[in-house]
Amino acid sequence: MSIEVLLNEFQEVSEHPYKVLSQYKAEGKKVIGVLPYYAPEELVIAAGMVPMGIWGSNKKTISRAKEYCATFYCTIAQLALEMLLDGTLDQLDGLITPTICDTLRPMSQNFRVAMAGKLPCIFLAHPQYRRPAFGLKFCLDQYTNVKTELEKIAGAPITDEALSAAIKVMNRSRAARREFVKLAGQHPEAVSAVKRSAVLRSAYFMEKEAHTAKLEALNAELAALPASDFKGPKVVTSGIICDNPKLLKIFDDNGIAIAADDVAQESRAIRVDCAETGDPMQALCQMFADQDYDVLLFDEKSSENRRAEHVCQLVKESGASGLILFMQQFCDPEEMEYPYLKKALDAAEIPHIKLGIDQQMQDFGQASTAIQAFADVL
Ligand code: SF4
Repeated sequence: MSIEVLLNEFQEVSEHPYKVLSQYKAEGKKVIGVLPYYAPEELVIAAGMVPMGIWGSNKKTISRAKEYCATFYCTIAQLALEMLLDGTLDQLDGLITPTICDTLRPMSQNFRVAMAGKLPCIFLAHPQYRRPAFGLKFCLDQYTNVKTELEKIAGAPITDEALSAAIKVMNRSRAARREFVKLAGQHPEAVSAVKRSAVLRSAYFMEKEAHTAKLEALNAELAALPASDFKGPKVVTSGIICDNPKLLKIFDDNGIAIAADDVAQESRAIRVDCAETGDPMQALCQMFADQDYDVLLFDEKSSENRRAEHVCQLVKESGASGLILFMQQFCDPEEMEYPYLKKALDAAEIPHIKLGIDQQMQDFGQASTAIQAFADVL
């Protein structure tokens, strides 16, 4: 299949996740909504169900969710609740609500209250100290609870064999997505910023094995392309999410390529794999402990500014000449980290811009002007 056809298929899924959800339900499958961040999708797959990522929406406005949320909650969290309240996600069989930031913690209770009697909401608190033995033990307790609740929904136990198989499925998916990110950065003439996002976003909606098979086919086609003669500026994108096609079209209209990303919904979520040997539940906890360089994770060595150094390194290694940071409005973790990131970028002489966005934004005129001007500087 041609690159264009494959990219269009990913885009179709990315733009119409509700069709995919309906299709799975028509096939008799159970589907579990998975909110950000770091929920072990492996457990859902091992239970024979389909994990479906819920990262807000670019097509909705907040209305019903206002009843439950303070106005200073980010739009990702509010729009996730909006879709649960307005019936968009009525077909879900359950919901996993991680609580890794100060918005998601109270939101987990809003989801629970709003969905009482309608949808099982599975609370998940990751440990702040994720590496010491007590952190791993806490994580195991939490994951065991998630497993128990998923088993209730599935109506069958999750066996170690099924979980080990699910770990392999997810590792293969992460590897294919990492490879795609690399190839898309090398071939911006073949993969636009809009299509790049659609490929990565659709992984949250499609069954992982189907998505991986299609993506491996795309990667093979991209790897066979001759070396790119792309001459435009290349950047690294950073932030929580950057999946609005209108926003990404600004990159394509101005001939700007995304060489790599430090985006939570994209590469931050697929950096670390899970061990395929040993006890699978312990392995899942160790995978979370191995996560790093994320504003949402506690860093014992934060005074060393390791995360910002990591981002600077990413810019250099990817061949990008600058960084564009998409700052979600009301996202405290990202806002608090920004001064440290700026300090490291300035010290490394990496030009960058910071653009405030939220998911209800429809007019990107200001962003367009800023990105155009930044491209000129680069
Ligand atoms: S965008 Fe920021 S505040 Fe909102 S859920 Fe993500 S980390 Fe939390």
